[in-house]
Amino acid sequence: MRIEQDLKLGFKDVMIRPKRSTLKSRSQVSLEREFKFLHGAKAWSGVPIMAANMDTVGTFEMAKALAKNKMFTAVHKHYSIDEWAAFLQETDASLLEYIAVSTGTGKQDFKKLKTLVSAHPQLRFICIDVANGYSEHFVEFVKNTRKQFPDQVIIAGNVVTGEMVEELLLAGADIVKVGIGPGSVCTTRVKTGVGYPQLSAIIECADAAHGLGGQIISDGGCAIPGDIAKAFGAGADFVMIGGMLAGHDESGGEKIERDGKLYKLFYGMSSSTAMEKHVGGVAEYRASEGKTVEVPYRGEVQVTVQDILGGIRSTCTYVGASRLKELTKRTTFIRVAEQENRVYTPS
Ligand code: 5GP
Repeated sequence: MRIEQDLKLGFKDVMIRPKRSTLKSRSQVSLEREFKFLHGAKAWSGVPIMAANMDTVGTFEMAKALAKNKMFTAVHKHYSIDEWAAFLQETDASLLEYIAVSTGTGKQDFKKLKTLVSAHPQLRFICIDVANGYSEHFVEFVKNTRKQFPDQVIIAGNVVTGEMVEELLLAGADIVKVGIGPGSVCTTRVKTGVGYPQLSAIIECADAAHGLGGQIISDGGCAIPGDIAKAFGAGADFVMIGGMLAGHDESGGEKIERDGKLYKLFYGMSSSTAMEKHVGGVAEYRASEGKTVEVPYRGEVQVTVQDILGGIRSTCTYVGASRLKELTKRTTFIRVAEQENRVYTPS
């Protein structure tokens, strides 16, 4: 047994220090970024905020709404080949820049991925997603996917440490997804004791990825726009959000009415709700590692998107970054023992 004594930080432990700036208005800030990839063929440009590949977040409807803002959606893996075909038929080419196909690492998953992407090679992004990205089997899966699809951009995760980021990039991933345990409906830290505070995970993993010419996605733990800004400030190339996009018209599922108020169901992809829906129950050898919650219904996602983008633009003006790309360089975090004033925040 060993104890690492370095303190690891989460979003709640820091704030971004304001800096002198020549920017007059938020409208002068560009949130678009352009990336070239380590393996994947073509460059990408857009606003690097992503909807999580959860079936109560990363739906086709969400993809259509976010693409209007040049934002990205990792579409959840439970759509059938036929549903994909119908969706691709009705949508225009520009949307393809902003969606990834998600997959697990089982034999059936690979078969489905091969069928889907071979039939629709215009699907440029593949998101290989497992809760624990530290297994050899996962690395092998990334290698095989790279062999099968030399031109596609491969996202792989989740991990939280630099050495595993490097291993995945060398195995063929372009972008590594970072985050174990910070998610709003995640119970991994409760059930297993495993995790890594997200801000430190981003700082360490971004350093490892950028050293090799790869990118990272900070995945999970953003509850407010300020957290997304902190994730970018820490060095994340992309930020993936789940809970912040749940509860909208585009989030999938039915509205639930209770005592005159409307809610929508939101659940972790390893929750018993998800496992019962998609694989007929929780297998005996495992525990569910996700929560099921009802979140207040929030209408169209565009209102939330504007709130998020406006917040990050404002962060950029506070530190004098005219482009999102400059935010990391212009960020100095301060360690804090307080966050916002919650006097008028209902508990
Ligand atoms: P949020 O933005 O809601 O804080 O976090 C979203 C992320 O939580 C997802 O992208 C995914 O990485 C993670 N997540 C989703 N469902 C589950 C789950 O059932 N268990 C765990 N451990 N993590 C989950």
